[in-house]
Amino acid sequence: MSSQQTAPAVETREFQAEVKKMLDIVIHSLYTEREIFLRELVSNAADALEKFRHQRLLAAEVFDDHLPLEINIRADQEQNTLTIIDTGIGMDRGELESNLGTIAHSGSRTFLANLDPAQQKDLSLIGQFGVGFYAAFMAAAKVRVQSRSFRPDDSGHEWISDAAGTYTIAPCPGIHRGTKIILELKEDAKEFADPERIKQIIRRYSSFVSFPIKVEDEAVNTVQALWAKGKSEIKDEEYNEFYKYIANAFDEPLARLHFSADAPLAVKALLFIPTDNIERLGFGRMDPGVNLYCQRVLIEQHSKNILPEWLRFVKGVIDSEDLPLNISRQALQDSALVAKINRVISKRLLKFFAELAKDQPETYEKLWQTFGSFLKEGAISDFNYRPELAGLLRFESSKTEAGKLTSLEEYCRRLAPEQKDIYYISGPNREAIENGPYIEAFRQRGIEVLYTLDPMDDFALSHIGEFKEHQLVSADLADLDLSAFDQPETEQDQGEQEEKAGLNPEKAAALGQWFKEVLGDKVKEVKESKRLTDSPAMVVNPDGFMTSSMERVMRASGQKLPPFGGKNLEINPGHPLIAGLEELRGRDETLARQVAEQILDNALIQAGLMVEPRSMVNRNYQILSRLVK
Ligand code: ADP
Ligand code: MG
Repeated sequence: MSSQQTAPAVETREFQAEVKKMLDIVIHSLYTEREIFLRELVSNAADALEKFRHQRLLAAEVFDDHLPLEINIRADQEQNTLTIIDTGIGMDRGELESNLGTIAHSGSRTFLANLDPAQQKDLSLIGQFGVGFYAAFMAAAKVRVQSRSFRPDDSGHEWISDAAGTYTIAPCPGIHRGTKIILELKEDAKEFADPERIKQIIRRYSSFVSFPIKVEDEAVNTVQALWAKGKSEIKDEEYNEFYKYIANAFDEPLARLHFSADAPLAVKALLFIPTDNIERLGFGRMDPGVNLYCQRVLIEQHSKNILPEWLRFVKGVIDSEDLPLNISRQALQDSALVAKINRVISKRLLKFFAELAKDQPETYEKLWQTFGSFLKEGAISDFNYRPELAGLLRFESSKTEAGKLTSLEEYCRRLAPEQKDIYYISGPNREAIENGPYIEAFRQRGIEVLYTLDPMDDFALSHIGEFKEHQLVSADLADLDLSAFDQPETEQDQGEQEEKAGLNPEKAAALGQWFKEVLGDKVKEVKESKRLTDSPAMVVNPDGFMTSSMERVMRASGQKLPPFGGKNLEINPGHPLIAGLEELRGRDETLARQVAEQILDNALIQAGLMVEPRSMVNRNYQILSRLVK
């Protein structure tokens, strides 16, 4: 025997720092639902079996092909151990190290890095964070994992750890394909050495596992593919339990869509909308939530190919008989059929959302509040579904009560005579918008304006561009002409106009020129406003592409944009401040210049754009000093 063939001695390795932290939390947390460790280990065993079932279709040869695909559990009260055995895909040495010694998912790592171990943790969520295996240490003082990969040329290994910062790996010859996990239970975890207790836990959490689970050789679950059954045969509770099982979730589903079609594709889908958005819990980006099956064989878990990324909040199963069973991952990505299923199901989901909005508006509103950001992401990143997504957007508006939402569809029903465009304006909140300069002209003419309170809204609307042939127009666009909506002037109006007409046209034009000289490169143009009534000035966007809100977001996210200066300043010659300024500049040019600059800064602030605070505050003090003199 050459030295190369002798098995290396037992190797001791350190856990990755985040794993140590995870283990620390698991070991020291107070257990409210300690039994969930078993759900995690059984779910891993089931995953391993599903992976094997698929690999067997791809590989020329697999090890131990004769073994039945099942999970066996043994509980030994004398030894105080619990053993979970699966005949799944198994792990080789490298896989044991990387799967059980590190945390691969970067979102989980960030989440864990920010966890405070001193706080009591709700470990029931552990499976969602892709670290379910470590839950074993809730019940076990020591865990031994013996595993043998399905690949014929591999050999078995044993991984052992007592969670104290290190683990060992050593060869373990002569074992079957799959994984055996032996838990040496803690003194206070003896209950898990009782087979009856184990059966009870399995029935509770794992009844949807699609392989037989045997406890002391007695089959505990009934294997079934829920999505393949008829709707009338399934109870609500069964649906909800199934959701919890496949999504590793603890909430109840908010809504579900169960359908099957034969044309243009043979496809069955059982999809759920969760109640909670776990991306909001500070746990990075979600993985896709839908598993792809072909004739009840799992082809791809958390499939990236079967739905667009922005639908990652949807959980469930899609099963298509039309797919070849032995399709590989690469082929999935390139498959025209998969792309077609993707489109069909995405459209169906969007139709489902629209139906919800119509038939169960309260449920849809919850969906929108929780997952609306994903739909906006879709509108921005994916041009395939823009008309459908546009119909699903919701906003507050000048015609809704505070906190109430409306749709583009409803907006269109309220269009003023002659009105073609749909108007929106962004702002940090309703009050700020209603007290700002942008909606004055609209309010006066009774034209509705949507309030885009979320920075993503403007991006979504500008990408969507139009809704049912109505252009979507930001109210901070330069040269907005609203004169078509003016009522024929009444005498009273004329009176008001005269009263307001602070500057005659020549003076207004001269003041505009002077303004531009004073402000220089800080603005593109200074124009007399046709819209303003109550405010002295506002900044508007001449390019019509990027709204101020979008500009603010892009600057805040570190995007390189040209310095400020692309805006136009509109001044209101009817406003006493502007009229007075024309007079002041003849009398005290220095003060007049300061006032002009301050007007621009104020207008930029009202547009939500950042202003350099130091010079602004200094100037403001100088102006105030003049007042108290
Ligand atoms: P997750 O299941 O979310 O990936 P876990 O912490 O539960 O996270 O498991 C980590 C990884 O360890 C799994 O992704 C899998 O690759 C591997 N693994 C765990 N249990 C088994 C098993 N019984 N058979 C094969 N691989 C397993
Ligand atoms: Mg797991």
